[in-house]
Amino acid sequence: MTRTVYVNGKYLPENEATVSIFDRGFLFADGVYEVTSVLDGKLIDFDGHARRLARSLGELGMRNPIATEDLLEVHRELVRANSIVEGLIYLQITRGAAADRDFAYPCEDTPPTIVLFTQNKPGLADSPMAKTGIKVISIEDQRWARRDIKTVQLLYPSMGKMMAKAAGCDDAWMVEDGAVTEGTSNNAYIVKGGKIITRHLSNDILHGITRAAVLRFAREAQMEVEERAFTVAEAQDADEAFFTSASAFVMPVVELDGAAIGTGAPGPVATRLREIYLDESRQVAI
Ligand code: PMP
Repeated sequence: MTRTVYVNGKYLPENEATVSIFDRGFLFADGVYEVTSVLDGKLIDFDGHARRLARSLGELGMRNPIATEDLLEVHRELVRANSIVEGLIYLQITRGAAADRDFAYPCEDTPPTIVLFTQNKPGLADSPMAKTGIKVISIEDQRWARRDIKTVQLLYPSMGKMMAKAAGCDDAWMVEDGAVTEGTSNNAYIVKGGKIITRHLSNDILHGITRAAVLRFAREAQMEVEERAFTVAEAQDADEAFFTSASAFVMPVVELDGAAIGTGAPGPVATRLREIYLDESRQVAI
């Protein structure tokens, strides 16, 4: 089926949607993005994604080409036009196309490029992987130092996924100065003695929208949360591990660098948090 996508104010069939070869997203990875999940045909945590988008744009001095109400309407129209019940909406904004390739930013009146498209993912909430858990490897974190900005420069995370695949695993957790930063496209957690441990917020990691929601639900459920860095050895010795992201929600991690974590099966804390997250998020989806 041909998708309807959104490019610079227009809804178009995917094969008719184009962006300039001079676009700075293409030439310099000069762009930011968001991924919002859809459950029951509704958007999960749209406001959180819109807020982080505004922050990413602000940190890069990039103009926001669309008001939040209009952005919501575009998301909803794409859900409708593509009959998405469970899936994802990808949004990208770049600094636009200057007349030529130049490292310096183009003049202020260069219109930013905005693109949105849907990904249909039936069964997203009922993922079989959530029942078995996933395996990760650790790799050195070789990304730039502003990981708090959600930019489209995702080559190293892609390389990390391929390293994980080559090792027969599902994902990689990145390590810097002896501590885990995050997964290639998710935030990382361990559970020890009932306490949920996840790296504190800083420029070293993306401030996950799912992370914020999950930690809030965990605290509301009287679970203990500690926001601090942890090592690979600590993770291997933990009772449980998991990751969070808008596209995978809460995902149990059962093996790290070949060592089983806890019983080697999804643990009760991750399983419970996944249930709570899905229940609560569905209730307030828009
Ligand atoms: N860290 C990184 C590096 C990511 O790419 C993502 C997902 N885009 C996350 C964390 C999770 O963020 P969110 O919960 O907002 O999807």
